[in-house]
Amino acid sequence: MLSLVSKASLAAAIVITVAWSPAPATIRADAQPADYFQFPLPSWDPHCLGFGSEWRYCNGTVLRRCSGSGAVWLHTGVDIKTEIQPVMAAANGVIVGYIVDPTFRGGVLIRHETPDGVVITQYWHVWPRAGYSVGTVVTRGQVFADIADMGSRTHFHFAVFNGEYDSHTWNGALPPARCDGFPAFPYKFVDPTAFVQAHLEPAPPKVVHHGGHGLQEVDT
Ligand SMILES: [Zn+2]
Repeated sequence: MLSLVSKASLAAAIVITVAWSPAPATIRADAQPADYFQFPLPSWDPHCLGFGSEWRYCNGTVLRRCSGSGAVWLHTGVDIKTEIQPVMAAANGVIVGYIVDPTFRGGVLIRHETPDGVVITQYWHVWPRAGYSVGTVVTRGQVFADIADMGSRTHFHFAVFNGEYDSHTWNGALPPARCDGFPAFPYKFVDPTAFVQAHLEPAPPKVVHHGGHGLQEVDT
């Protein structure tokens, strides 16, 4: 009986996945270009897993292995310590995916058109706010979701996928070498913290004092 129930809820999750497949290209037209990125939370303290860490719970339990080799899969994003708080869009873009996983709660994908091509940011363990669904245009810093309550496992997962949407864009982990139909880590994922840091909006120019108070003009 229990297995029937869990099969039923898995089927429900799959139905939701299909219902929220990527948005058609036509509704992406309103998105502003993504010139700059920011971190989705106000603080950015690492949780148990970084980019490329073995995919385990904090207590060491392995989440997934290759069926043949037994190799432990590697984490495609970064996990960040957080309480339940608002989550911001990392850059201008359009929500192109929303799925609900019974274990990991809500996952959201936002598609960004950058000067270097399409980038998709991945947010896991979040609940979108009312009015935010597939097709919603967002701007950098806009609050579109809240961290989901996972009890003692509550944290935020963020990943950066450097390319157009495909069947692996949702992956929170990938195998160290190709297995079970999945490509090897990192595939198109890049270090999310390094990516955001490299794409932050430059700080405003330094204020220059022109005389009058014995200050020399700053030569920049
Ligand atoms: Zn994670």
